[in-house]
Formats: sequence, structure tokens, C-alpha cells
Amino acid sequence: MQPQTKEPRTNLVYPENDHLLRMTLMGGQARVLMCRATRLTQQAADIHQASDVATTAMGRMLSAGAMLSCLMDLPQGSLTATAAGDGVGGRITVVASGGDLKIAVANPQAELPLRADGRQDVAAFVGKGQLSVVKDLGKGEPSIGISDMRSGELGEDFARYFTTSEQTPSLVALGCLNQAGTVLSAGGILIQAMPGCTNQVIEQLEIREPFFSNISREIYDRSLRQLADAWFEGLEPVIVGEYPLRLHCNCAARMERALLALPRADLEELASSGEDTVMTCHFCRSAYSFTPAHIRSLLQGADFEDAK
Ligand SMILES: [Zn+2]
Repeated sequence: MQPQTKEPRTNLVYPENDHLLRMTLMGGQARVLMCRATRLTQQAADIHQASDVATTAMGRMLSAGAMLSCLMDLPQGSLTATAAGDGVGGRITVVASGGDLKIAVANPQAELPLRADGRQDVAAFVGKGQLSVVKDLGKGEPSIGISDMRSGELGEDFARYFTTSEQTPSLVALGCLNQAGTVLSAGGILIQAMPGCTNQVIEQLEIREPFFSNISREIYDRSLRQLADAWFEGLEPVIVGEYPLRLHCNCAARMERALLALPRADLEELASSGEDTVMTCHFCRSAYSFTPAHIRSLLQGADFEDAK
């Protein structure tokens, strides 16, 4: 029961593997994360049979999830970011754990006409609403941050999240260049001024902001390291970490748990129905089939004492 993940396409102009770079500038006055998520966005688009506008939104959301997760610095934890807007695409959820990412979209096949400038209309796909970020550290209660999603373009919305929920002024750019089912590039950049950052450094970062306005085009044919060298020349960029990213879903064990979350009476009904019970993962679309005998064995091993 492996997820049916197609091999990513290999006709990329810049065939660099998906990864994330973590950097400091000026001896730690600012930190920078940059990521490339091209291949995994293509895989996600194929899995969800996504429209072009959905694919653009997914590429941006996956890039944001990768960078947020890296900021957590906790290998045991996971991060869930949900864009719940009123656009045609509905709710988009990305889950990141280490460099493993997965994404679910309520209406991945919803289509929209291109904007007048030829770009995908991500704002109309996502809409306005709320952006929530749940950090599960692997122990204790997860922490939840929520901010208004006012544009639906996602980059601005994540920047607002950092400023309002995390009290950290941040510059965020997210992008995905794709057409007719093919992802040419996807990725993002996140820059945060750290406490003690001088005004001169902040000015230097603001001067560079226009470089990031078309991030998907920038990473289309250059490596992240090449871009980092070019963009942060004179700001002493130091790479402090580099991590691979991949699309990965660990749903096999979760599906049994999801089944066991049902009331005991419902499970007994399924076990005696004489038909297999099929459950499909929202993230990787893998279908899991449980025979009545399997459900009976789960019932025997289950502890329902503290079930709600
Ligand atoms: Zn799955």
C-alpha cells in the first residue's frame, strides 16, 4: 500500500534537487531561508490532478511550509499551516516535518482564468480568511498562531502571520512558475531581522526587496547558492545549513488510527458488513482497504476505555 507517487519530471531547465538553505547575514543580524520545491510541487500536482492555478497555490504553500518548519528547529515536531479562505479552491493544508512535506487542497481541480498580467489568479483561488499555523513539538500541547489572510496571494499573508503572530517583522516571497500541468520552478525566501539588527542592514534588505518579487522566475535557471551570492553580496552571507526537501506521506499507520477513532458500534457494523472498508488519504490519495477480518482484529486489540 505505497502512495502512488509518480516520478517527478526531469525536463527541468535547472535540475537542482529540492532543498532549503539557511543563512545568516552580517554575523547574525538577519537570517534568511531560501527553498526550491519544484519537483515536489510537480508530484503534488500530479497526485491531486491539480488545475494550473491550484498548482501555483500549492507550490507557494509547500515552500512556506518548508521554511516555517525549518524555523522550528525541532526534528521531532511537525508543523501544520492551513489557509482557510473563501476562494474557489477552499481550504489548503500543508504539513511539514523535517524536510518531509505533504499537502491537501479542498478543490484542487477548480480552475480560474489567468489575470490580465498573465499570472495565475492565486488570490481568487485562495481568497480571504484565516491563516493558522499549528506547531506540534512532539510533546505537550501544540501551539497555534492565527492571523488574517487579507490578500490570498499567500506570500503577503505569511509575512503578516510572522509580524502579528510571531512578532517578527519578516519579508516573505513565494512563487511557482507552471503551465499546462508542468511545474518549471517553485520556491521561496524568508528574511527576518534579528534583535539588534542595525538600521543600515534593514535598509540594505529593503533595497533588495525587488529582487524577490518574481522569485519563481529567479530560481527557474539558477541555483539557490548562486542567487544567495548575488542577492546578498556585501552582507556577509554565511550558509549555516542545507536540507533536502521531499513530498512524503506517512499515512499507513495513521489510517488505522483514524479508523479506530470511530465509535466502537460503527466499527462493529463495518466488521460485520461483509464488505471491505476503503479509506483514502487526503494528502497522498493512497487508498487503504480494510477487510472485515482486519477490522475485527483491530477491535480486539483496541482499548476504547478513554475513547470519546
Ligand atoms: Zn497519505
